[in-house]
Formats: sequence, C-alpha cells, structure tokens
Amino acid sequence: MKPEHRKYYNKLLAEREYLQQMIQLEEGERVELSTASETGDEVDVSVVANLREYTITRVDQDRQRLRLVEEALQRIEEGEYGYCLNCGQPISPKRLEALPWARYCVKCQELKERGLLKEEEETEEDMATG
Ligand SMILES: [Zn+2]
Repeated sequence: MKPEHRKYYNKLLAEREYLQQMIQLEEGERVELSTASETGDEVDVSVVANLREYTITRVDQDRQRLRLVEEALQRIEEGEYGYCLNCGQPISPKRLEALPWARYCVKCQELKERGLLKEEEETEEDMATG
C-alpha cells in the first residue's frame, strides 16, 4: 500500500463497517415488514408495502456502495488506487477525500450519470475475507 493512500484506506474500512451494519439492520427491518404485511389489515398493507419498497431501495444502495468500497480497498492494496477506471487519469485528491470509493474522475462520472459511459458487466466475485 502506498503511504499516501493510508488515510483513504482507513476511511474506507470505517465506511465498510458502517455499511455492513446498516445492511444488517435494514435486512432485519425487511423481514419484520414482510411478516407484518402477512398479518396486516387492509389499511396498513399499503403503508407497509411502501416502507418495504423504501427499505429495499436503501439496502440496494448500501449494497452497491459496499461493493464500491470493497473494490476501492482492493485497488489500494494492489497499488492501483486513485485512477479513473474509464480514462485512467488520476482522480483529484479532493474528490477522493469526499468519495474515497470513487471509481471515476469527475468528467467520467458525469458521463456515467448521463448514461454515456459503458460499464463492464458485473462480475460475481467470491467473498475475499480475511
Ligand atoms: Zn475519467
């Protein structure tokens, strides 16, 4: 690991822990909500359904973030951290400071948000624990 990446690494570790806790909590909520909807009377069902949808969205977002965090940790370990995955240009320290899991430079991120960036297919990776 490059010494200048140490602070991002620590941030990412903290973020990973936070996200894992959130996901666990949200998963728990989801289970509770799904049992609630089975027993619920008609009025509550739509509320529960909305809530459940909200929770699912949140879990998905957190999961996605967690994946980015884990990718970033891996890039740090491999010494490839800090470069845009699309154009290969260095990502500005300011951006990394705010979003240590950023995969793209600001320019490419914009393209991505406009749907103009081709992303690789997601690959299922085995959990690398330890
Ligand atoms: Zn870029």
